[in-house]
Amino acid sequence: MADREQATGVLGLVQDFVNTVDLQDGPEELSDPAALSRWLAGRGLINTTEALTVADLNHAVALREAMRGVIGANTGGAVFPIDVATLNSAASASRLRARFAADGRARLEPEAQGVERAMGQLVAALFAAMGDPNWTRLRLCASPTCRWVFFDRSRNHSSRWCAMASCGNREKAKRFRGRAKPR
Ligand SMILES: [Zn+2]
Repeated sequence: MADREQATGVLGLVQDFVNTVDLQDGPEELSDPAALSRWLAGRGLINTTEALTVADLNHAVALREAMRGVIGANTGGAVFPIDVATLNSAASASRLRARFAADGRARLEPEAQGVERAMGQLVAALFAAMGDPNWTRLRLCASPTCRWVFFDRSRNHSSRWCAMASCGNREKAKRFRGRAKPR
């Protein structure tokens, strides 16, 4: 959707990954293992020759939803133990470790190869995003059927909807209909 706000850098990568599905209207970009492979290869996270399995796809979707879960904490949502466990298991499987780059700056890098490495790079992006001053601007749309990740550019981090034109107005209409019911 054109009017939904997009972040850049690690925040943008995390946002893009979680938004590979539009829960409200579709589509699901990660529809099969080949689609996952294309998405990861498109961001340089995996070699295009890597053949992925349905189990890999299920892991990736679980990781995506766990990431959505922790972003929800920025909008006052509860953090669920299952999401924390999923993130920790992806971090362990990819064997993340601290690496100092040529510019002297440290970051997390996975030691694993293949799809574990790709998942580890997404976890590392989430880790870096959480340390970014703009982390709390990454928010979930307040519409329970949408939960799109948007980048809140408002001055006091107070936007509630991914796009007022769609979700904001839909939720307002719902509340209005609720009030208008005869008693
Ligand atoms: Zn929305």
